[in-house]
Amino acid sequence: MHHPNITLVSFGFFEKDFLENIAKAVQSEFHCSVNLKEGHIDLGEYYDPARRQYNGNDLLKMVDALTFPGSVKIIGLFNVDLFIPILTYIFGQAFLNGRTGIASVYRFSNDRYGIPGNNSFLLDRFRKEVIHELGHTFGLIHCPVTTCVMRSSTYVEDVDQKKQSLCHNCRAQLETQQE
Ligand SMILES: [Zn+2]
Ligand SMILES: [Zn+2]
Repeated sequence: MHHPNITLVSFGFFEKDFLENIAKAVQSEFHCSVNLKEGHIDLGEYYDPARRQYNGNDLLKMVDALTFPGSVKIIGLFNVDLFIPILTYIFGQAFLNGRTGIASVYRFSNDRYGIPGNNSFLLDRFRKEVIHELGHTFGLIHCPVTTCVMRSSTYVEDVDQKKQSLCHNCRAQLETQQE
């Protein structure tokens, strides 16, 4: 599969420029064309009133059930707080070596941590998160290299330490996958 096509499907409001920026970053990292789509579903049924968060496992399954002809990878983009039962929150998750992942901007704004700053941090972090989840769908596991986008991140500080690109090793693995 030399030129796989990736779909980024957004749920909820995102600025057009913001999405196009993410799409461009994905395109250059994975050397493939990227489609932007809008999803229209009621997120209410994924809301857990006790946790006041949205169920990341159910949302991942929901996105996985969508069809986008020609797309080999699908990432659902959200702006709500995601959780899975064993964790306080997640930035996103994906099926390893599968077709689908999800990612949310919710935890990436500086406002949330009382850090002054602008939206460029949010964009920067979200680009890395989307590329990270896509890496998982291409079979890449967490990488020990500090600056590699496949490094696992629990906190935004971890995300800020990495680059938005794959390290040499992860890149080589991806290329084996895409052959
Ligand atoms: Zn990961
Ligand atoms: Zn790596």
